[in-house]
Order: sequence, then structure tokens, then C-alpha cells
Amino acid sequence: MSQFRAVKGTRDILPGEVLSWRHVEKIIHQVAGIYGYGEIRTPAFEYTDLFQRSIGATTDIVGKEMFTFRPEEKGRSITLRPEMTAGVMRAYLQGGLGAASPVHKLYYIADLFRKERPQAGRQRQFSQFGVELIGASSPEAVTEVISLMMHVFGELGISGLVLRINSLGDRDDRMRYIVALKEYLEPYAGSFDGPLRERLEKNPLRILDSKDPEVRKIVRDAPKLGDYLSSSASDDFSKVLQYLDDRNVDYTIDPLLVRGLDYYCHTAFEVASSELGAQDALGGGGRYDGLAGELGSRQDVPAVGFAVGMERLLIVMEKLGLLKDLSASGPQVYIVMQDSDLFGHASGICDTLRQSGVSTVMDFARRSMKSQMREANRIHAAYALFVGEQEAQSKVYGLKNLGTSEQESLPLKDIIGRLTAVPKT
Ligand code: AMP
Repeated sequence: MSQFRAVKGTRDILPGEVLSWRHVEKIIHQVAGIYGYGEIRTPAFEYTDLFQRSIGATTDIVGKEMFTFRPEEKGRSITLRPEMTAGVMRAYLQGGLGAASPVHKLYYIADLFRKERPQAGRQRQFSQFGVELIGASSPEAVTEVISLMMHVFGELGISGLVLRINSLGDRDDRMRYIVALKEYLEPYAGSFDGPLRERLEKNPLRILDSKDPEVRKIVRDAPKLGDYLSSSASDDFSKVLQYLDDRNVDYTIDPLLVRGLDYYCHTAFEVASSELGAQDALGGGGRYDGLAGELGSRQDVPAVGFAVGMERLLIVMEKLGLLKDLSASGPQVYIVMQDSDLFGHASGICDTLRQSGVSTVMDFARRSMKSQMREANRIHAAYALFVGEQEAQSKVYGLKNLGTSEQESLPLKDIIGRLTAVPKT
């Protein structure tokens, strides 16, 4: 073993596990396609002020979790992206996408970076898939995004999920509510520790999603955001719930659900799985109509989206036994050489097979025929193709089906014909 280890909070995904990732990614691409969403890819780092502006200075992410650096001494500060929404909205505005069409349906699978304390389901580099529907945030748009998310989970076979939903109202509703919440919490402030008192000062909504049992007890009787919604915000939320009912999506209204990021408004939602431990949130999202304005757009751009943690998704699937049937299919042909002097001839055959689209591998460690055969079986090759002195002269090769052990002698042209034939259905 080398003295080097992966950096704390990061991990390798070795080939066996990559199969699971590719399976999940394939379903995500498929479902996003079915819903008419196009993939977007943005840079892994952005100027730091993009995140300060969008996520909000009082959040944990901006306050203490960003990997920030200055590539040039006097240059602008840069941050590895801790989430995707800000970068996607920046790309949307920079690319003038709104001028081309009012509504853009985008999705991504991307790596993110947060300087958090690593634990199960919490890493410093992790991956999310998510969707940003930009240009609409009506109840119809909100429920479409939630349906897409639940569709992915359904397609992956994941059960036992709980979708929690709440309305954060508009900015004025929230302002009025925060006054009432602060008033309610103030008498308890003496028992709060430093960070909690700071939250009360700077971002009291975040106290609602504290995991501390004592705080949860206090918060249970706090005023409810739902009682502070304007009638238009309440109507909007009722419509969302109505459409979810129409689409047979199960949900629980959670009056204490607030999202950690500042830019959310109106509907916010989270999906949790009982298969996860303390970090039970699989993903979440909501509406963020104010974000474009925060980033300097003259018009507000309605938008709604969600993000789901890929690592946690895979943890849940593993626990539910949904990954065990995934196994790699081996190459079609393993070329077994009698002697390494035949490498030149054998590699010509190998190239011809590959050019015909037949996946072919061969030895380059000068191993014995016996170890080449062992290797062919180990990697689950479908056929072994034998190249010896005699075969090289006659150009007729032994082709052994490693499943049935049947063997035939055929010229290369017939081997290619056999291996590239479309099976009759
Ligand atoms: P957020 O962007 O904070 O709303 O997170 C959305 C989802 O991303 C969470 O529910 C997790 O599944 C996942 N996630 C967030 N932070 C981490 C992390 N540090 N490590 C692994 N997954 C994470």
C-alpha cells in the first residue's frame, strides 16, 4: 500500500462500484429525457461572490463550508462549487437563454465540494443530480419537478421514501413570520449555545430545522409559517397540493420544513429515507424566484428545482438490495496466444475484430496459455480465440465458447460474421 491516501472526506469509486453509478446515471438521463429536460454542465469553480450573493452570507455553506482560494495574488477569489443552482442560473443569464425561449428545463449530475465534517453520507466531495426549471414556477411547474424526482426514485425501485412539503410564502410573509418567531424564541435564548444564538440573530428560520431534541421541543409550539401566508401564497400552495393529489404523489405537510439556503420562496420540499441514519435527507428543493434578481438580472425569473445526493441514493439502494444484480459483462473475445512471438499476428487479428465492433482483449504480459485462459474466465470473456503457429499459417483459428465449451475452427471472416450477427428475436 502506498503512503498516500485519498483526502479526508473524499473517496474513490473503483470499477465494481462504477457499475452502480452508471446504472443510476442511465436512469436519470432516461427519465430527464422522458420529461423533456436537457443536460447542462457548468464549471467546477465560480467566483466566490456568486455563492455569497445567492446562497446567503448567514448560511453554513457560505459561512464555513466553502473551499475558497485566490489563483493569483491580486486576482478575484474563486470557490469550488458547493451546489449547482447558482452556477446554472449564472449560465442561464450569461447565455441569454431567456431571450431564446421563456422556459428552460435543465438537469445535471455534478460533483460538489463542501468543507463539512465527514461522516456516513456526508463527504467533502460528493455528487448530486438535480433539475432546474427556469422561467416558470407555477404550481404546475413545481409539481412537474417533484413528479420527475419521484419518477427517478420509482424507476430505480426505491421504496419507503417520505416527501415532506411546506410553503415559505413570499418575502413579506417571511418577514412578518420571522418577527413573530424571534419574539417566541427570545425567552429561550438564555439556554441556547453560541451557534444557536447566532442563528437566532442572523437566520432564525434555520432554528426550525435544528436536529437538537431540546430545540425541537421548543420549536414544536412555535408560531407556524403557514399562519402567516398571504392569501395568494396560500392559494398557490393549495394548488401544488391539489396537483400532487391528482398525480398520486404522497406527501406530508411539514410546517417546520425550511430549506438551508436563502433563495427559496413558496413551496419547499425534502425527501427522506428511513434507510439513512442521522443524515436522512436524500434530497430537496423548491422555488427560487428571487435568485436571478440577486444575480443582477433586471427581471425576476421564476424558477424551481431540486437536488438529490447521489452517494446517499446509492446507500439507500444498497440497503434495499437494489444493486446486487449489477455485474460487468466481459469482453466478447479473449485472444489466447501459444507464444509471445505470435503477438504481431495476434494483434492484427485483435485490431480487425475491434474495427468490426467486437470487444477484444489480449495478453501483453507474456503469460502462459494456461494463465491467459484463467484470465479469460476471470474477466467473463464470452469466447477464447486461439492463435498458435499452425493457426497463424492456415489462418483458421480455434474459437471456444467459454459458456458451453464448444469449439470450432473458422477463418477470421466467419468469426466476425458469427460475433457481429444480430440475434434473431
Ligand atoms: P442540499 O444541497 O444541501 O439541499 O443537499 C441536497 C442533498 O445533497 C442532500 O439531501 C444530500 O443527499 C446531498 N448532500 C448534501 N451535502 C452532502 C455531503 N456533504 N455529502 C454527501 N451528500 C450531501
